[in-house]
Amino acid sequence: MRHTILNLEESKIREVANAGIGRSDVLAFWFGESDEVTPDFIRQAAIDSLNRGETFYAHNLGLPELRQAIALEMSRKHPAHGGGHAAQPIGMDRIAVTAGGVNALMLAVQALVDAGDEVVAVTPVWPNLTAQAQIMGGTLRTVALVPKDGAWTLDLQALLDAITPRTKLLIVNAPNNPTGWTLTSEEQAAILAHCRSTGTWILADEVYENLYFEASPTGCAPSLLDRASPEDRLVVVHSFSKSYLMTGWRLGWVVMPPSMTAAMGKLIEFNTSCASVFVQRAGLVALERASEVTPRVVAHLKACRDALLPALRDVPGISVATPRGGMYAFFQLPAVDGAPQDALVVAKQLVVEAGLGLAPGNAFAPEAQGWLRWCFASKDMARLHQGVARLRTWMERNGGR
Ligand code: PLP
Repeated sequence: MRHTILNLEESKIREVANAGIGRSDVLAFWFGESDEVTPDFIRQAAIDSLNRGETFYAHNLGLPELRQAIALEMSRKHPAHGGGHAAQPIGMDRIAVTAGGVNALMLAVQALVDAGDEVVAVTPVWPNLTAQAQIMGGTLRTVALVPKDGAWTLDLQALLDAITPRTKLLIVNAPNNPTGWTLTSEEQAAILAHCRSTGTWILADEVYENLYFEASPTGCAPSLLDRASPEDRLVVVHSFSKSYLMTGWRLGWVVMPPSMTAAMGKLIEFNTSCASVFVQRAGLVALERASEVTPRVVAHLKACRDALLPALRDVPGISVATPRGGMYAFFQLPAVDGAPQDALVVAKQLVVEAGLGLAPGNAFAPEAQGWLRWCFASKDMARLHQGVARLRTWMERNGGR
C-alpha cells in the first residue's frame, strides 16, 4: 500500500458524524446537502430512461445533448467569456460530464499533477480538494484566508507571491466551503493574469456559483470563466448536487480548454468510463427546467441563512459573519484562556451532550481551529431554531466552552 494513502487524514466531519450514528435525537447539520428530495420531474426522467432500457455504457465525455445543454448554460451564465473583447460562447468541445463534482476534481488533478509538482491551495477549504493533490503526490502549499471581523478575506498579494513559475496548479474554491468567502471579479482578473505569467494551471471549484446571495447581472457568483480565454490553463468544476438537489445522483462536469478534452476522455475511461445514462437524462431535464428548481432553492437558502444568523448572533459568545454564497454559516467559538477551542472535541461533545451535529473547522484547515460549520440547507426552518436553542443551552451549561 502507498504510504501517501496510508497517511491520508480521515475526514474529521465523518469522525463527528460517526459519533452520532444510530441516534435519532441528533439534529444534523454536518454534511453539505439539503434535506429536500430531488424534484419529481427530475426523478421521473431517470425512471423513464430506465423504462426505455437505457442501461448501457455511454460516451466517455457524456451524452452529446447533455454536453450541449451544459455548454449553453455556461455560455448564458458567462457571456463575457474571453475577457469581454473576444466574447465567444463556450462550446461543447470544452465540456466533459463526470460522476459528480468530486470526480471532476479528481480527474482534473490526475490530468495536471505529477508526483513532486507544487500545488498551491487557498484554505480553509473542503478537505477533498487538498487530499486529491496529495494522492497524486503533489507537494501542497496553502495560502490561508484571514478572518476579519468574523469574515474570511483573501490577502491577494500573499496569494500571488505564493504562485511562482514552480507552481503547477492553483486550487481555489469560491464561493467557498466552509467560509462563504467569494472571489471578486477584480481578484479573479489579477489571479488569471499572474498565473498566465507563471504558466500555472488553475483548478476553480465553482460548484456553489448559483448559491449566491448578492445582486449580480447573471444571478451567480463571479467566475473565472468571465475573464478567461478558451485556451487559458483553466479547469472549472461544477456539480448538479447543490443547485438541483441531486447530491446522491453523482453528476457533475468540467469546463476545460478544448485542447484538453481528448485527454480527459481517456482519463474518464480509466476512472468511471462514463456517468450513468439514466442519471445524465435526469441531469438534462434538471438543466432544461432549471428555472423551476434553482431560484426556489436559492431563495429558500437565503431565508435559512437570514433566520439562522441573527439567532446564532444572539447566543452569548458567538460571532458570525454573513456568507455571500454557499450553504454554510461558519462561526468562531469563544477562546478559552486565550487559545482557540479544539473544534473536533467540541463538535463531538455537541453530538453526545446536546444532540447537535456540526462540522469542526479544523476539518478544513488548521487555521480554522476553534470554528464550526453549520449547513443551513434545511427544509424545515424550525429545525434551525431548535439547533440554536440546543447550542445556547450547551454553552450556558459549559460556561462558553
Ligand atoms: N466542491 C465543494 C467545495 C463541495 O463542497 C462539494 C460537496 O460538498 C463538491 C465539490 C462535490 O460535490 P459533488 O461530488 O456532490 O458533486
